[in-house]
Amino acid sequence: MDDHLPSGQSVLSYLERMVTYCRMVHRGDLERDYRDAWETAARQLLGPLPNRPPAPAVYTPAEMAPKPPTPKWRTEILAQPVRRIVARFSQQEKDGHGYTTLDYERLECGHIIAAGFNYSESGQPAKRRRCAQCAKEAAAKKQPQPAVKKTKAVSA
Ligand SMILES: [Zn+2]
Repeated sequence: MDDHLPSGQSVLSYLERMVTYCRMVHRGDLERDYRDAWETAARQLLGPLPNRPPAPAVYTPAEMAPKPPTPKWRTEILAQPVRRIVARFSQQEKDGHGYTTLDYERLECGHIIAAGFNYSESGQPAKRRRCAQCAKEAAAKKQPQPAVKKTKAVSA
């Protein structure tokens, strides 16, 4: 007769209640002990669990988030070659109210652009600008004769 012995199930539920109790009174140290005891008892009474399924493959961030295509505006800006500023000048021009002074920059390629910010981040006057007109000319040259490959001219 082993009626006085606790059943396996009652041992497990006792240990489970103790885990909950220890957690509620913030006794993490005891909670861990009771959890270990519960796991040991469960393995003895219920048998070991089958192995975990293999972990899914680890994805690299590049695979998870494919690189977005370069925006058109960026491609267009990068296509503009950087040219040295050779001169700055102002010109009076007529507008709706009278005359207004506009600032221009002449680039080494001969193109004239409206003056941008005169000062770069370092506080020094900008020495170079990207030339949109050179990019336009290069794109126009490329289109009619796609078979002929020419090395891009560095300066005009
Ligand atoms: Zn140019």
